[in-house]
Amino acid sequence: MQNFTYQAAPMRVIFGRGTLNQLASELTRLGVARALVLATPNQAQQASSIAAMLGQQAAGVFAQAEMHTPVGVTDRAMAYAKELAVDGVVAIGGGSTTGLGKAIALRTDLPQVVVPTSYAGSEMTPILGETRDRLKTTQSSPKVLPETVIYDVDLTLTMPPSLSATSGLNAIAHAVEALYARDRNPIISLMAQEGIRNLAQTLPKIKVDANDAAARTEALYGAWLCGSCLGAVGMALHHKLCHTLGGSFNLPHAETHAVILPHAVAYNASAEPHAMAEIARALGAKDAALGLFELAGELGVRRSLRDIGMREQDIDHAADLAVKNPYWNPRPVERDAIRGLIARAFAGSSPVDDVKPQAVFAQ
Ligand code: NAD
Repeated sequence: MQNFTYQAAPMRVIFGRGTLNQLASELTRLGVARALVLATPNQAQQASSIAAMLGQQAAGVFAQAEMHTPVGVTDRAMAYAKELAVDGVVAIGGGSTTGLGKAIALRTDLPQVVVPTSYAGSEMTPILGETRDRLKTTQSSPKVLPETVIYDVDLTLTMPPSLSATSGLNAIAHAVEALYARDRNPIISLMAQEGIRNLAQTLPKIKVDANDAAARTEALYGAWLCGSCLGAVGMALHHKLCHTLGGSFNLPHAETHAVILPHAVAYNASAEPHAMAEIARALGAKDAALGLFELAGELGVRRSLRDIGMREQDIDHAADLAVKNPYWNPRPVERDAIRGLIARAFAGSSPVDDVKPQAVFAQ
């Protein structure tokens, strides 16, 4: 075993079914008497019922969270928080709502309770990406870490089937890159393998029955593990590509992860055979990249950048952007090879050379 550094995350985590009923006592524990409840417009009703459940402990609801945390939305939420004189925030939703809670915490240091309802994993990381004038900038600060995270499996039962699949693959991507991270460590590698295994086994069950509570429980546990990986070690090519493609071409976050992951893994395969074996084993597949591509096919998610809104004429520009300020990556990031990767992902081809997608993967 090589020398390593491991930094534990300070968040208090409450996990299970029906755990939302501990929200009021958690707020009390944190000394919060007037919380602002955050959500996206889609989950406004859920946020209102939570505010009603909290009674006087909730000062109001701000249900305008948006993908990629636009600064304009944060400004509006900040003004509302000030007007209501809130002393804490509750974020209920996916990564978009968590992002808004983090942005408020960064500016105010208010305590946060996050109740994640997707598998994105943002609640476990000190990372905040904000968008101003369509430009996304990312920073890392311990100030944005939530004080408490309440995982309530029951709240994930309503996650739309397509988001369940893509968000699950988004979570797997965090664990995959943790296994070949420059600053990997054995604790996080254990969590990563367990997270991949949990999600790979349960996402297909959830596709068949979105209300399968046992599968939903395992999946959310897996997502927590994967989010912890994202918060603990550095990410590489896959996350850089998704960041670039999502930010520059306005592609949907989780779906972009789902398309790119097998291709980024194939790119890194020769540089990281040990990590590839770990990923393949956790997936129950013979090959890491192919296993991920097959899993995406089994889940019925879109596997080409074309299908999620990218234009063919943008491939070269995307390759240029992807090699600018690259993240550390186990295999050198070379422009031609990256262009090839993006072209394959654009077409939805297999990530591995000698396999014809139509022959192997029936959707
Ligand atoms: P999202 O939060 O945008 O959710 C997508 C839609 O699904 C929203 O309308 C949401 O309200 C709805 N939804 C979520 N859970 C639901 C449920 N259980 N039932 C019904 N509807 C539900 O999407 P996401 O993929 O969770 O998050 C993506 C965002 O998170 C991106 O902006 C991404 O950059 C960010 N993110 C940040 C980090 C980080 O560490 N900073 C990590 C992962 C993702």
